[in-house]
Amino acid sequence: MCNLIGHALQQALTRRGFIAGSAVGASLIAPMMCSAVAGDDELDTRIEIAQSSGDTASSRTRLLLLGTAGGPTWWPNSDQCGISSAVAVGDAYYLVDCGEGVGKRLQQALLPANSRVMSANLRALFLTHLHSDHTVDYPNLLLFGLFTGLDRPASPLKVFGPGRRGQVAPVFSLPGSSSPTAPIISPDNPTPGTKDMTGYIYQAFATDLNDRMRDNGKRSLEALVEVHDIDIPQIAGFKSPNETPAPPMEPFRVFEDDRVRVSAILVAHAPVWPAFAYRFDSEDGSIVFSGDTARSENLIKLAKGADILVHEVIVTRWIHGLFPAPRSVAEEGLMQHLLGAHTPVEEVGGIAEAAGVKKLVLSHIVPGNATREQLSPAGKGFSGELVIGRDLMQIGTGQAAAPARKG
Ligand SMILES: [Zn+2]
Ligand SMILES: [Zn+2]
Repeated sequence: MCNLIGHALQQALTRRGFIAGSAVGASLIAPMMCSAVAGDDELDTRIEIAQSSGDTASSRTRLLLLGTAGGPTWWPNSDQCGISSAVAVGDAYYLVDCGEGVGKRLQQALLPANSRVMSANLRALFLTHLHSDHTVDYPNLLLFGLFTGLDRPASPLKVFGPGRRGQVAPVFSLPGSSSPTAPIISPDNPTPGTKDMTGYIYQAFATDLNDRMRDNGKRSLEALVEVHDIDIPQIAGFKSPNETPAPPMEPFRVFEDDRVRVSAILVAHAPVWPAFAYRFDSEDGSIVFSGDTARSENLIKLAKGADILVHEVIVTRWIHGLFPAPRSVAEEGLMQHLLGAHTPVEEVGGIAEAAGVKKLVLSHIVPGNATREQLSPAGKGFSGELVIGRDLMQIGTGQAAAPARKG
């Protein structure tokens, strides 16, 4: 039977990450915890504590949910930050996506108050795709990172993300209507990849960066950050980003160090291309991030047998309520994207079951102020453990980092 996990945040508040996050973090979280876990009595009887085994704080490999809201907006009536997560293996950290608030949440998750070396053990960042809700605080991470631990030339931060799309996406139109057009931003390079984007960030902030190097003795970010556009292997049946955005393929290796091996695969988030899911394997287990995607057989292949699957989800009924008929072409286009490029809450349980994962964690939740009642259908068809993700939740997997000490 599926366990609906909603009170995990309360449990987590007593654990290392939250204690380490100081009273500031705890007080910031407490009010949203109250509203987030309020539900009907029937649901409450089915809810258990995600970290009931008590191993989260001591697990060497941990999932950290930093921001759990999806979408390029500031959700009303919600304190959840934009999508970003981290994998911790011992004292090494790996980020997945840079949604709004990533730096602040990382600080709350990892550090005692007033510490300034947050980024010192941050080894790598993996961007699933270049939608703004996944990248908007990437500049923030780099620029503030100069003052919080990134200034370490011996071990540059490695960044991995999509390369150039290479062709612009078609303009959405209704069947039978005339071919619409849209202006093009940056016609010389209209679909920049991660390396391009990083270079443009340096250009946009050149006044600040040149000042910091002269006035504060900082090094050049160009020397402190090592950016990689992910090379996608040859795929049989691939034609173009517009025609075949996520053809069937095998997972491929993106990164490996002494703690983790990271693999990727293309997922179904058209017209965005490329859009990746990532799998982290450590000695302790495996954690998979779906990125943004509709149901994807590639994702199911990547996630086979994983300990934890962090999967995006969208509340279908909310979409229909958002766009009542009659709809403009623009409204129709956005509605079709939401329906066709994301995973309805009723389907995610079946995906987790097909992948045979032990634990399904919902994150990139749309709307960002969804109620537990709206999200509870995620357990449909899933025999493992379901966790409704909340900011700053930590979930451990595998062996303990050190023997527990009491007294
Ligand atoms: Zn998104
Ligand atoms: Zn997206």
